[in-house]
Amino acid sequence: MALLLKNVRLETGYLYDQSFVTATETKLVDILIENGKFVEIAPTIEASDAAVVDAKEQLLVPSFKEMHTHIDKTYFGGEWKAPTPATEGIFSRLKEEATILPKQLNVAEERAHAIVRHYIKHGHTHIRTHVNVDPQIETKHMEIAKRVLESYEDQITYEIVAFPQHGLLRNGPEFITILEKALQMGATHIGGVDPALIDRNSREVLNITFELAKQYNVAIDLHLHEQNTLGEFEIQQILNEIERRSFTKEVTLSHAFALADLPQQALDKLIDRVAANNVGVTTTVPIGAGPITIPVKYMYDRGVKVSFGHDSLIDHWSPFGSGDTIQKLNQFIQRFGYIDEWHIGQSLKYATGGLTPLSEEGEQQWPKVGDTANALLVDAISSAHLIARQCPISTVISKGNVIHEEEVDLKGEFR
Ligand SMILES: [Zn+2]
Repeated sequence: MALLLKNVRLETGYLYDQSFVTATETKLVDILIENGKFVEIAPTIEASDAAVVDAKEQLLVPSFKEMHTHIDKTYFGGEWKAPTPATEGIFSRLKEEATILPKQLNVAEERAHAIVRHYIKHGHTHIRTHVNVDPQIETKHMEIAKRVLESYEDQITYEIVAFPQHGLLRNGPEFITILEKALQMGATHIGGVDPALIDRNSREVLNITFELAKQYNVAIDLHLHEQNTLGEFEIQQILNEIERRSFTKEVTLSHAFALADLPQQALDKLIDRVAANNVGVTTTVPIGAGPITIPVKYMYDRGVKVSFGHDSLIDHWSPFGSGDTIQKLNQFIQRFGYIDEWHIGQSLKYATGGLTPLSEEGEQQWPKVGDTANALLVDAISSAHLIARQCPISTVISKGNVIHEEEVDLKGEFR
């Protein structure tokens, strides 16, 4: 079925005062979508056989990718409960999980549905979720997450990280067999967490992780909370494995807090090596106490693919996740003090898999004929306006289909 978007606002360039961007230029167009792709962009298009959406001059932007979440162990959709103090750090949380997760099993599926629907409503057409594989849950969460995500296959794309949250080695050799079973159930990635801290043997953990990734032909996405020189050492170990094995599948570092608190010279050396090995970094843009916010733009400008995720929406680890990526982008620009049109607008790329309507130089680069039609209609007049004023989404389009619509009181530039 073809979809015709009428009266769509597209960003076309920047307006400058000397070298400074003062505003974003836009124009109104019609856009025809067929077979999930943009096929025509013109001032006026007529297509009698297409479904028509009148955008009423709303802005079209690329849809969002949630690159780090846990749909399998959430309180979302359940009653409010605040996390307890973690007196033993991450080990407090692992102890809690041993009782909380088995208890939540009977509601895990409905909560996973609730969280996926929430992400769709907030403009996400792709979700990467980590899914616990641990001595208590074994592969039960894999079954649930897979079943839930498969039921949204016509709406979103997704990736599943088989995540040994409780470590690889400390659960005995039989645990590896359970993890292998999970990897055979449709995982796209193998996960991990703080190999030096949890298993106290990062060399062996990474060796097994890379071996399993190769054997089951999956990518890697590792949680790294370790800070400063321990985190630096861990990242170097991972890079060593990639180089030693000429590992070509995607590798992602989630959180990578060490990148937030290393001295400049050590940081630069590490970032350049991360970039050279094409390793991605995912962050929630944490703004809590301590140096935990990684230098997102600095890293991106040195060649590291950085993307955003919410991690949890609400669970026994954190009560803060909103699942609202416009709010996340707003948190990001506030954290780094970006207040001008160019810096704010260009920040969109961390949420869209690198896509922005305008290049850094102001050349129009999205949407192009032939691009997959994953897009949002928003009541904003530029990407910067969208992020700074947290403008609402009215329409979510995935592979050319409207997968969510809601009534929005249109205020345009006066929002
Ligand atoms: Zn996580």
